[in-house]
Amino acid sequence: MAAACRLLDAGSQVTLVEKRPYLGGRAFSFTDPATGQEVDNGQHIFLGCCVYYIDFLKRLGAFEQARLQPKMRAPVLSPSRGAGLLSAAPLPKPLHLLPSFLSYRLLGFKDKALALYALVKIALTDRTRPALAQESFGGWLRRHRQTRRSIDNFWNLIVKPCVNDDVDDVTAAMAIMVFQEGLLRTRGGSRIGYARVGLSKLMGDAAQEYIEARQGRILGGRTAVSLQSDGRRISGALLSDGSAVRGDAYVSALPWNELASILGPELEGQPFFQPMKGLKAAPIVNVHLWYDRQVMDEEFIALVDSPLQWVFNKTAILGRDDSGEQWVTISLSAAFEYVDKPKKALEDSFVAAMAEAFPRARDAKVKRVLVVKQNRATFRCVAGSERLRPTAKTPVENLFLAGDWTDTGWPSTMEGAVRSGDAAAEAVAGSFPP
Ligand SMILES: Cc1cc2nc3c(=O)[nH]c(=O)nc-3n(C[C@H](O)[C@H](O)[C@H](O)COP(=O)(O)OP(=O)(O)OC[C@H]3O[C@@H](n4cnc5c(N)ncnc54)[C@H](O)[C@@H]3O)c2cc1C
Repeated sequence: MAAACRLLDAGSQVTLVEKRPYLGGRAFSFTDPATGQEVDNGQHIFLGCCVYYIDFLKRLGAFEQARLQPKMRAPVLSPSRGAGLLSAAPLPKPLHLLPSFLSYRLLGFKDKALALYALVKIALTDRTRPALAQESFGGWLRRHRQTRRSIDNFWNLIVKPCVNDDVDDVTAAMAIMVFQEGLLRTRGGSRIGYARVGLSKLMGDAAQEYIEARQGRILGGRTAVSLQSDGRRISGALLSDGSAVRGDAYVSALPWNELASILGPELEGQPFFQPMKGLKAAPIVNVHLWYDRQVMDEEFIALVDSPLQWVFNKTAILGRDDSGEQWVTISLSAAFEYVDKPKKALEDSFVAAMAEAFPRARDAKVKRVLVVKQNRATFRCVAGSERLRPTAKTPVENLFLAGDWTDTGWPSTMEGAVRSGDAAAEAVAGSFPP
């Protein structure tokens, strides 16, 4: 979507082929038949440092339908030890987080002192050092004397939802990037944002309108099945309905495994397209609960000492008045242990976990439960994965790559996706003589 919009802005004629009947890819929403409500395939958040994504929403005219906190504020709850708060103070960066960090109740004095030492180290680290792309962040944290408590109650609290992997799996390079860009580089970078409408309305529908208003052509419900080429140039893309699309340049914004399956005999053996096959995916599970009453007050809350990771108050976020009822979404990142479990088992354990964390949930009636599993939610930023991510420009003269998994320097995020689309559009423009 980002590549198509950029190319249209630059005056190109664009045809966008999408296998599903709607745009939005892995960030979409659907109507829950039981409640009639618009449910996201997974709660998506963005941060103030996601400047390409924010700009994309603004260009689509969709930013008004999202909320970005004026200053960072993240309430944290431990069912056994009470509440904590991470928030930004009116101080110059990187000191803006210091007051709330010092008063953060879920870490002890020693945890905090050592965590501050690690944050200073992170601020001063060149994250492009090759060794950091091979080491896990967990290893890096332990090497920098971080306590188990600070790993659980601070580092993983941030890394897991941002990168969809545990600190012990994600590379030190990518986790350091998250802290440098999100927390330390600017005061506003860590502000949290989210959609106030269903994701399809926010992005897919808005992008479709944008593209069609500029005479872009969208071929929805059609799959690209094969690229025709002589190994040096693409001459067409064959679609599932038997038709072919032809153009001067071709941008693939497919996930890597889908791209590998359509390359065709002339391209599939080329060295450039081999490394991407080594990328791995990680799952996300969302458990939606509709209560007969209000069980939480905040718009979202992060949890420690609990299987609940982040809980979102969808009733408040979407501004709905449901006559006192409340819809909450439990967002479970790096959900390897949950993705294959029966939905009923997840329902039982997360209803119980909610009751443990939120006293008002104990007497509340759960009117509906919906479990949404996304097996291949994000690509994994694990040791060695950085060198598997290709550039937008390929050795094939008129083939360009986009997708969050390409070489953006970002984890699997909407920000990475928009950056990749912009980079692909720029590479297309650069391939034509002025
Ligand atoms: C549950 C969940 C939660 C997430 N949470 C967050 C979050 O909080 N914050 C965040 O920033 N990111 C989050 N993400 C990640 C984010 O959704 C992705 O990074 C982003 O959507 C990737 O966009 P993309 O365009 O690179 O790929 P995709 O969205 O995967 O788009 C690829 C498109 O190609 C289409 N396609 C595939 N094969 C073909 C073919 N052969 N022919 C035609 N079309 C084809 C697909 O239908 C799809 O529309 C989450 C993802 C999931 C699943």
